[in-house]
Amino acid sequence: MGVFFRCGDAQRRRLGVADVPTDKTPPLRASGIDQQPQIVLNTADVDPPLRSFIVIIDTHTHIGLDRETIRATSGELVKSMDAAGIDRALVFGGAINDCPNSWLLDQVDHFPDRLSAVASVSPLRSDAPTPKAVDRLAAKGRIAGLKLYPGYEHYYPADAVIRPYLKVAADRGLPVVFHSGDLFNKIPGAKLKYAQAIHIDDLAVELPNLKIVIAHLGYPWMVDAAQVCQKNANVYADISGLVYGRFTSSTEAQIVTYLRQFVAVCESPEKVLFGTDWPIADQSDYVVAMPCIVSAVFGETAVPGVMGGNALRVFGLHP
Ligand SMILES: [Zn+2]
Repeated sequence: MGVFFRCGDAQRRRLGVADVPTDKTPPLRASGIDQQPQIVLNTADVDPPLRSFIVIIDTHTHIGLDRETIRATSGELVKSMDAAGIDRALVFGGAINDCPNSWLLDQVDHFPDRLSAVASVSPLRSDAPTPKAVDRLAAKGRIAGLKLYPGYEHYYPADAVIRPYLKVAADRGLPVVFHSGDLFNKIPGAKLKYAQAIHIDDLAVELPNLKIVIAHLGYPWMVDAAQVCQKNANVYADISGLVYGRFTSSTEAQIVTYLRQFVAVCESPEKVLFGTDWPIADQSDYVVAMPCIVSAVFGETAVPGVMGGNALRVFGLHP
């Protein structure tokens, strides 16, 4: 299978990505469902409909009602996805962003072809849903996974307090995304020890049927995250939130460094999922930068999987 994409010349030079041989480049056409995936970036001379060949799944986005952290609606998210060329996004609930599951589901219902809800549970709060309530949502196909924030809420991923919810997720085939790595320093009381990716290992071993995603590559503990992914068949990592706002050329180089640390331990690109952390990070910049970054680190054949194919498989989504 041939995979073809183009980075901008300057971007390619910065990241050390080899040129795509011109004699292997297929004709750029905007029709034909049998064509191989093509990722075309920074090429103003290409037909805009070519973007329809690109399956891009953003596995990490937020909406919320909180002015201090995240204040965004599903309508604003879809507008940003349209500008970036993103086909589908997973949208997270969470007490930390003032995004109750009921509001999340209502917001996502406006865009069933573009958005999938990932409910959140805060197991130590008195208003936490029961595991049965989560199971009912799963049974109705209302949620595509669970998002958990142990660093902000003070429990380890393998603790008993969260286990009933994780058993529901495992039984229903729902992946669980753990916020992992650094914590927002404006949120008082957050504790890093609960957010380090190494603690995912206990859970991954004890619930081998549960699909687990380590968010943010576990930054700055990429090596730990990579080892947990490498060792456990049921663990993946997303590349969201590695920048605040817009990309710069130095941001690209930093992310190449982070990913190379990951790859030194876990060489499998099928373990890596595209995600942005919108609205914290800019989706359009992520879509332009990441294929070239992934190509520089894993090779160009990894690009379609990381940008969307892996997410389709792990979350059981349709493009
Ligand atoms: Zn996030």
